[in-house]
Order: sequence, then structure tokens, then C-alpha cells
Amino acid sequence: MCWSNATLFYGLWVTTASLNFAATAYKATRPTILAIDLIISRRRRGQLEVEGQDEKTTARELPEEVWELVKDHLLGLEVRQVELDTLDRLRCFSCGENNGGSDCCCPECEGAREARWTEWGYPDCESGYCIENAMDSELLWTRTPEQVEAIQALLAHHGLRMPSTEMWHEEPESYYCDFESLSAISLPLRSANSLVFPSARAEGMHNFGPGCSVLSFSLEALLLPADADRRFRRLVSNYRLRVVDRTQDSALAPNDPHLSINSTPKISPSKDEKTVVKTASKKEAEEEKETPKLFAEAEPRWMLWSLCEPCT
Ligand SMILES: [Zn+2]
Ligand SMILES: [Zn+2]
Ligand SMILES: [Zn+2]
Repeated sequence: MCWSNATLFYGLWVTTASLNFAATAYKATRPTILAIDLIISRRRRGQLEVEGQDEKTTARELPEEVWELVKDHLLGLEVRQVELDTLDRLRCFSCGENNGGSDCCCPECEGAREARWTEWGYPDCESGYCIENAMDSELLWTRTPEQVEAIQALLAHHGLRMPSTEMWHEEPESYYCDFESLSAISLPLRSANSLVFPSARAEGMHNFGPGCSVLSFSLEALLLPADADRRFRRLVSNYRLRVVDRTQDSALAPNDPHLSINSTPKISPSKDEKTVVKTASKKEAEEEKETPKLFAEAEPRWMLWSLCEPCT
């Protein structure tokens, strides 16, 4: 059975990898972060008791901003460590440290002995084993229940959730090898019938015509909490999430002032032209960056996500 989903959510798209690293880091730093938050809140209420500190500066005198900096630094280190640990697990033998060049100490040979693939992304691996290891891991195209649970805990702590565990693959035909897949994060909504995130799901019997599904929204569901954008900002900056904006179009009011900025509407290419345009559009994409965008890349917004899955 073929199916399609349309989901309205207020949120952002981040790379699945950065979300996974963040969720693992959240779990690992939970006790420390809780302790720092406790210090901050006690300090605010003037209840911080510090024992046995004779030095000039005590924890009591450290301003809140310093504690926030400590927290930020700690999270930055942890997220990076999770990334490095992941790469260590997936890196093939010949890309590992000390596996290139001879014992010679000249800069060239020393450079060759440094580990390759030290930042997440498509590995620069000659044998291809790093890529195979990554494809076999459950990091590129699927999520383990543990990952989902860790991500949900991180998001819930920020008053957010995933509208769906499905990922966005830019090249669907090579989804299994997608190092840059995206995940959606959203303000929480729930369906009237169940706790799941509301989504209009239509199913179609193959070759037996289209299927339909309609979802209605209460006015309250569309109201944004006052701290909505702050929730995303805190999460994205504390946990070093990589936000990516791949939205293709925006819905505007008929008299939106942005319309006068982009006065020449783009004629979308026909189906046959599309593949050509995709490869030839690199320069065009660079030019597009110049034109003022409706939203900043990391700016949360209402988005309609449509996803279809053909039957196999
Ligand atoms: Zn040498
Ligand atoms: Zn390798
Ligand atoms: Zn079908």
C-alpha cells in the first residue's frame, strides 16, 4: 500500500547526526547540568551555601553568566566528544591514526599518520570501508529505539518533540548512504484521538486511484507559546545542532511586503528539466543566497511537511 503524510508543525530541520550526538551528550551530562542549574537557581534565591572555601572568589560570588559559560563549554566539549567517539567506532583500519606513511618524522609522513575522517560528513576514505561501516551502523537511515528515546528526552526537556521519526533524504535513491539526512523538531501538538503527533495520512491501493485524508486544527493548537522561539534557540545553541533550511516555497498573505522584494517569480522547471537543473544549479544556488530570504536559516516557523512512500 502506498501512503502519504502531510504534517503541519512549528519548528526547524536539523541534521540527524547532530541530533543524535546532542541526545547522547544530553544523557551523559544530565547530572552535571542539573547540578549547575541547581546552583544557578539557589544563587538567584540567595540560598547558595558554600562550605570550606577560603579563597577570595567563592561559588557564591561567581555570577550567573559564568555558570552559564561553564555549562555551555561543557556541553560543547561533550557533543564534540560524542562525535569523535562515533567516528572512532566507524573508522576503518587504514584511516585510523598511525596507519599511513612510514616511521619517518618529516611533516609529510607525520601528516599521513593522523587519523582521517575526524568531522562528521561523507568520509574521505580510499578503501570505502568507513562508508560501509557507517551504512551498517544504525546512524544513516534508521533509528534504534534507544536513539528515539534519547532524542525524545532531550527535546521534552526543552518543551519540544519530533513530529515524526521519519528523516528527510535529499537523494531518496541513496538514502542508505545519506550522511546529511535531516530530522524535524517541533513544538508539541497532539491528535484528538491519541497522543501521537497529528498528521494527515492517506493510503492508496496501488493502481486503484488516489486516497485522501483531512485534518482540522483548533485555534489553540496554532497559538504559539510566548517562549516558543527561545526553546529552539536554547536547544540549537547549547547542543550545537546543525540547522538546515531546504524549504522550497513559502505561503504568504496576498499583500505580503516580501512580494515586492522578489518581484520576478521563478518559473518552476518542468519534470524533464528538473534533473538537469539540479546539477547545473550550483551557481544559481549561490546567487540565490544573495536575495533576502523570508526566514533566517535557524528561525523556527510553521511548515507543512509532505512525505510519500511508494509501496515496495
Ligand atoms: Zn617522511
Ligand atoms: Zn576508511
Ligand atoms: Zn503502491
